[in-house]
Amino acid sequence: TLYLDNSATTPVLPEVKDAMLPYLLEEFGNPSSKYYSKADNAKHAVQISRERVANLVGCKSKEVIFTSGATESNNMIIKGIADYYNEKRGKHIITSQVEHPAVLETCKYLESKGFFVTYLDVDQYGRIDLEQLKKCAEDTPPLLITLIWGNNEIGSLNPIHEVAQYCFENNILFHSDATQVVGKHPIDLEDYPGLRFLSYSAHKLHGPKGIGAAIIREDELGLPTKITPLLHGGEQENGLRSGTLAVHNIVGFGKAAEIALDNLELNIAELKQNEVYLYKLLKEKYKDRVKFNHLEDNKIPGILSVTFPGINNELLVKNLAPYVAVSTGSACSTSKPSHVLKAMGYDLEHIRSTIRISLSPSVSKQELDIFNQL
Ligand code: PLP
Repeated sequence: TLYLDNSATTPVLPEVKDAMLPYLLEEFGNPSSKYYSKADNAKHAVQISRERVANLVGCKSKEVIFTSGATESNNMIIKGIADYYNEKRGKHIITSQVEHPAVLETCKYLESKGFFVTYLDVDQYGRIDLEQLKKCAEDTPPLLITLIWGNNEIGSLNPIHEVAQYCFENNILFHSDATQVVGKHPIDLEDYPGLRFLSYSAHKLHGPKGIGAAIIREDELGLPTKITPLLHGGEQENGLRSGTLAVHNIVGFGKAAEIALDNLELNIAELKQNEVYLYKLLKEKYKDRVKFNHLEDNKIPGILSVTFPGINNELLVKNLAPYVAVSTGSACSTSKPSHVLKAMGYDLEHIRSTIRISLSPSVSKQELDIFNQL
């Protein structure tokens, strides 16, 4: 089966696995232990990985907090800010209708605790409107703005640079879920002074599952930004995320981040080429029996949102499964009709006929030709 569900997860690269193995075997030390070499080796490996994970997005290594993945990072940042700052900054949170459930459900939980959340509308490609956001923030100054950077179902990019600039000028805390863009889009946080919080995950960039990063940038004075931790305990990760560090996973994340950065331009070009190739192939084969919901440009390369009107997407994905693995949308909410496409203005019939195809840079054109035979 040709695997084309890379937005759900990606295979671990052999180099990543090789880098991880010693930390499961001989180098099993706890990086918080002291004085003996196994502890020091583990601590050193974590530090190198922290630098690699930081380099991928252009922040400082001390601004990286290792978590179990982007779900935890989103929860930690959003709840942590809500708890720590609400007395000073109020209870209004601004987000959008097309966030990942890890953000939406966290916001819903906070609503149940007395916070007030605005879910911004999006355009037909799933992007928020900057003017609407500014108006909303001026009406009731928010405690936090949290927006997905690149959408996991259709690949559209939000105007993160403009929002970051606005937040910088207006002293608003801004977080972005960058899980789908890291490794597929150049990110240098030095160019985004207003973007103080970022979430991403290793398994979307050929690293292991169960490890991610919460980036918490220093404040304007170079002091650590405070939030309330989600996990209390041994005070690892500057007291922000207690628990013995998963050294093997961290090492895998670091290796995957290093490879992703070294190959960023190449991967983007290959993803784009593959996307254009498949787009043309499907268009030529199915003519007006196929519709595309994604943008052709200014998006995460390699994500196609494809609608076959009149054909049930669950059945289609099931029938394709022996040949190609694709999905009906996000892996976490496949049973429900996509809230993303709904917010983009599509009706239920259209949504129930839509599949997501997410490519990898390494897939070949010959492999993609399988769609000609289906
Ligand atoms: N945010 C986005 C945009 C995602 O695509 C995903 C992946 O499913 C997540 C968050 C959750 O990431 P994780 O599986 O690392 O918890």
